[in-house]
Amino acid sequence: MNEIAIKSVASNRVRLKSDIFYKVSNLEIIQEEFHDIFLSFRENRKCKSIVFTHKKSIALDEIINKLNSLFVTSINLSIPASNAVCNSKSSCSSCAVREKDPKSFNRKLVEFGILSAYSIYLFVAETIMGVAIVATPFSLVALVSVVAAVPLLKESWEDVKQGKFTLQTFMSGTLMLAVVFGEATAAFEIIYILRGAMLLEDYIATKSKNEINKLVELDIQKVYVLYDGVELETDLEDVKFNDIVVCRSGDKVPVDGFVVDGSCEINESLINGRSDSAFKQLDDEVFAGTLVERGRISIKVTKKGNQTYISRVMSDVENSLAIKSPAQLEADKLAAKLLKLGTFLTIGTLVVTGSWLNAFSVMIVMSCPCATVLAASTAISAGIAKGAKQGILIKGGEALEQVSQSEVFCFDKTGTLTTGKPIVKEIYTLNNITENELLRYASMAEYRNTHPLALSIVEFAKNKDIVIEQNASSKIIPGLGVITDFANETILVGNKKFLSNHKISTKSLIDEANKHLENGDTVVYIAVDRNLLGFIVLNHEVRVGTKKMIEDLRSHGVKHISLISGDDEKVANAFALEFGFDSVFANQSPYDKADAVAQLKEKYHNVVMVGDGVNDTLAMSKADVAVSFAAGGNQAAIEVSNIAISHSHPADIVELYNISKDTLKVVNQNYWIGTSTNLVGVGFAAFGMLSPVAAGAIHIGHTTAIMANSSKLTWKTKDNRHSNNEY
Ligand code: ADP
Ligand code: MG
Repeated sequence: MNEIAIKSVASNRVRLKSDIFYKVSNLEIIQEEFHDIFLSFRENRKCKSIVFTHKKSIALDEIINKLNSLFVTSINLSIPASNAVCNSKSSCSSCAVREKDPKSFNRKLVEFGILSAYSIYLFVAETIMGVAIVATPFSLVALVSVVAAVPLLKESWEDVKQGKFTLQTFMSGTLMLAVVFGEATAAFEIIYILRGAMLLEDYIATKSKNEINKLVELDIQKVYVLYDGVELETDLEDVKFNDIVVCRSGDKVPVDGFVVDGSCEINESLINGRSDSAFKQLDDEVFAGTLVERGRISIKVTKKGNQTYISRVMSDVENSLAIKSPAQLEADKLAAKLLKLGTFLTIGTLVVTGSWLNAFSVMIVMSCPCATVLAASTAISAGIAKGAKQGILIKGGEALEQVSQSEVFCFDKTGTLTTGKPIVKEIYTLNNITENELLRYASMAEYRNTHPLALSIVEFAKNKDIVIEQNASSKIIPGLGVITDFANETILVGNKKFLSNHKISTKSLIDEANKHLENGDTVVYIAVDRNLLGFIVLNHEVRVGTKKMIEDLRSHGVKHISLISGDDEKVANAFALEFGFDSVFANQSPYDKADAVAQLKEKYHNVVMVGDGVNDTLAMSKADVAVSFAAGGNQAAIEVSNIAISHSHPADIVELYNISKDTLKVVNQNYWIGTSTNLVGVGFAAFGMLSPVAAGAIHIGHTTAIMANSSKLTWKTKDNRHSNNEY
């Protein structure tokens, strides 16, 4: 339910209810977007509602329209667990059987092992030792086939009761006919292949999940919890919210929370891909799965277990494995058509040749379009697993398929293509203000902000031993800057547009600022109580591999590469020229960014938006594929993305493209393997040149070939990240 219901309106006080209001990231976006419209705002996530009073000059309709444009068309990727099962029963019996038969993989493996041993016995006895195998309806082969087919028969019975003719019923029918007509060996082959195919499909899917889980393996059982000043060893599962957990050098952080004591260097590459460690001290947020490299911290627990940030991202990816992509849905449709064709060809063969045996062989060949279904599903699982192995978390086959079918790639600049920490290069002050005074104001306003510019300004101030006021609360305006009211002063830190929105002119500094902008540096202005105090110049370090990524994407056939940045046009233009972008959108607010994506979508087929911050989420939700890159734990950007890249090397974007392309290539190859062997088989069977047993053998051949073909996707992993050091 993404519609917005109006629950109450009293004067300008309104209560709205919608599923939209459950997501923390959505609530953050609402607060940002409506800060100048709402006079007060309260949320109740549990009731999925928000209560606000709004400026009388703005009509409620206008507010609702804006909310609709923000969210209703946005992608909702937090997949509910209930959707995370395949509910298509039209074709793939293996899915349906598996869904109702939650036997462990190991048990299935043992059962398949027994069936394999029996099939070897049959082969040795018949072919090598020349013993005639009895294949009558009451023979051992018949018994084994029927017992092995119990899950399939149960499934078919359900379909028959509902009057449905499905692949399961077709296969069960063929199998039972084979038994009844004394072709129990062919029946055994059919069920043997089916069980094998199910097992292999399970294996590939399980492997994908394992790859994903490996990324977040916490393997922490015991933690130290502080009780009355004493550290007590406690089971992780017994840790409660607000408990204080102590971590020291070498420990993996077991929970999400805030530092309440101590300080440390922490490796957060799992979360944001940054290899250099971050310094954490009082009040800083820390995430489960990150590694304390040096120091000791006490953490107040805010989230644990499957509620932690990283677990939630992972479970999105894991759930998405079960959601069918367009290629998989196509495969289902094709399998359903093959089923009809199978029935038609069987009857046709009987009518034309008058031979029951020929018709029966045709029926066996056509009874297992599993190969068609597996053609797509195995390749896509393998593609997702390959991505996961390299820190590219692909939330579903649809996104995976779309990447290499996209004509446009859009990139945000700051934080995405530049490193998370620009360098403060120069400080320029006006009106007898000292550099330290200017820095004190700027760092106070930026203190709790995670924007790359904010991180650098705060770090620079700390290194200068400036005492930063930590109690000032700031309002972050994405793409513009921050505003803080503290001790009767209003501090503005941001770009030219931000200051001019607040009627503060930056003209007096224009010449001075232009010099830096032309060099590609970012200029951040600081004003206090409407007086411009000066600016800070920050130099961005471009991520190594950016130029190569753009060249590679272009050589792969991407038609248009666009830079969509909130930075000044001089800076964005210089950057775009240097790196060879086809178009530049500069000075973009989050809305403008979304419009830019919409414009490109009108001209081109499929647009990918790659961004890192909250200011990109709207544009990301408008794109066909949203990639969060080096998002540094930015929940909103990761939630709205279809693909989250946890490392921050541009080569990962090219790798993602390659995985997508390779996966689609394998899906196509698999179709060919499945369909061509089936057609050849039917041809031979119709003319009596294929016994029922040989017809079954065809399935073994092509199912194995398809599995092997799909798994080759996970074999070849080349690391092209460190191949050169150029931008
Ligand atoms: P990009 O779109 O390139 O990632 P952003 O939208 O994050 O850039 O920021 C655009 C511009 O807005 C920055 O270049 C800066 O001038 C200003 N800005 C954004 N956030 C802040 C901040 N926290 N402090 C100062 N300036 C900011
Ligand atoms: Mg950015």
